[in-house]
Amino acid sequence: MDCIGGFLCPDAYNLAKPVGIIENKKMILDAHGLLKPDQMEVNGIDCRLLSVFCTSLSDEYEGFIVVYDYEKFCADPELMEAIIWHEIGHLINPVNLDSVDIDAEIACDKMAYDNAGVNGIVTLLNKTIELGKQLGNTLLIEISNKRLSAILNL
Ligand SMILES: [Zn+2]
Repeated sequence: MDCIGGFLCPDAYNLAKPVGIIENKKMILDAHGLLKPDQMEVNGIDCRLLSVFCTSLSDEYEGFIVVYDYEKFCADPELMEAIIWHEIGHLINPVNLDSVDIDAEIACDKMAYDNAGVNGIVTLLNKTIELGKQLGNTLLIEISNKRLSAILNL
């Protein structure tokens, strides 16, 4: 079941229509190929890093940010705003869930930098590099390092 955690006000985020924030653990696990919630805990994965953006088929919403745990997602406002701005950046920089488009990711990071400040996005990218190390995912580490240096060179 989808549980709507909240809505982003269109005015505050320069949106034509609201974006919903949905908690859906199964969708997040499926999107990242993680089979069981245990694996998240065993690997010490920060579930906020796994948030994804989905476009909406309904006329009421611009899209949805899907999060693993809504309460945790909201725990650190600075990080939360960086994730929100990055994800709504995907409205104008669309990507497929199963491929990596580094230019689109950097464009979205820049949205977060411009609108939510440097701290949140740098924290997000440092945490993502840590995640890559935890998972032994060299591609994730490499991409995140490129994204981080793009932001630090702005
Ligand atoms: Zn992204």
